[in-house]
Amino acid sequence: MEGEGAADADSSFEPIRTKEDFLVYGAPLIEEAEVAEIVDSVRSGWLGTGPKVKRFEEMFADYKGVDRALAVNSCTAALHLSMLVAGVGPGDEVITTPMTFCATINSILHAGATPVLADVDPVTMNIDPAAVEAAITPRTRAVIPVHFAGRPCDMDALGQIVKKHDLKLIEDCAHAIEAEFKGRKAGTFGDFGCFSFYATKNVTTGEGGMVLTKSQGDSERLKTLALHGMSNDAWHRYGDEGFKHYFVVECGFKYNMMDLQAALGLHQLARVQRGWERRAELWKRYDAAFADLPITCPAPAEKDTRHALHIYTILIDEEEAGLSRDQFLQAITRENIGVGVHYVAATEHPYYQDRFGWKPEHAPVASRIGWQTVSLPLSPRVSDHDAGCVIAAVRKILG
Ligand SMILES: *Cc1c(COP(=O)(O)O)cnc(C)c1O
Repeated sequence: MEGEGAADADSSFEPIRTKEDFLVYGAPLIEEAEVAEIVDSVRSGWLGTGPKVKRFEEMFADYKGVDRALAVNSCTAALHLSMLVAGVGPGDEVITTPMTFCATINSILHAGATPVLADVDPVTMNIDPAAVEAAITPRTRAVIPVHFAGRPCDMDALGQIVKKHDLKLIEDCAHAIEAEFKGRKAGTFGDFGCFSFYATKNVTTGEGGMVLTKSQGDSERLKTLALHGMSNDAWHRYGDEGFKHYFVVECGFKYNMMDLQAALGLHQLARVQRGWERRAELWKRYDAAFADLPITCPAPAEKDTRHALHIYTILIDEEEAGLSRDQFLQAITRENIGVGVHYVAATEHPYYQDRFGWKPEHAPVASRIGWQTVSLPLSPRVSDHDAGCVIAAVRKILG
């Protein structure tokens, strides 16, 4: 029951928004085109993997300027399959960032490998290439950078490291659909580029993901593994080209995307630029409105890069701000504004601590960020009025 206790005891407390009008963090903008396309899919009777998935894959490959893209049912699946196809398995170590969603770490475990953390840069919040280099052992097999909040990692430095040590590079692009580094698009640097279309992401299919691959061989193996390990012909077995048997060639997974999901993605991707421009407006407005507050706003995008503007984070240092991050979270929720935390550092989670002996001091920068960070509403669904409420609430609490 948010707001009860302190707030209600204080009869003068007037929230910035009403409870009925609670601003949900990360709510997607779904338009009539998506609704019509879903209805079309339902009426057509083709719900599963079919022509719309194929069109969505082609459209995504076009957007990225690459030859192949495979749609799957999540970014977690995309990461898991990428590691299997990269040959990552038991006994191998995979270096990644502590400033990420648990799915990045879990997918390494699903592949049977051991995650190894390299701390982040305090300004970019992206994995620090020097820390990656320092974490390499004879067992290191791959590196998974996350383009955090949509800010591209230093792909020059990471590219050199993986080349020098002959490692696989798998990009976690869950935040980074629109990101570019020196004119090259996120997801096209690594051996694999993995994307998420979860409900809060810059392009959504409800649940969904995509994998980009460099080689035809990797692409075929991914496709087989994504659908039970059935030979690739299975993807066409209900088509109009005559009956085809399928054969199981290895033990795969149930990771395929449905046409119902692609129906959303086709229109979401068509509007990707409009969404980015809207988030850019909100970003600028937040930057200007918070410039005089005792908090840290996101650093400007690096020269020669395009930031995908996925998450707007502020850092609250208790000593400077006069209240803790957790007190801020309570206070802004009481104003009926939904916020997020991206992320409590991976070193803080009990499962990983028990299994790998991780401690917050193993990644001190990520740990500090994890205790100071708050993500403010930033989707194209956020109206000018909504943004005004967010600003008023933040200033009311911190001003
Ligand atoms: C959302 C997210 C994922 C997982 O994506 P799903 O599509 O939900 O599996 C992985 N990594 C990061 C950084 C994410 O934000």
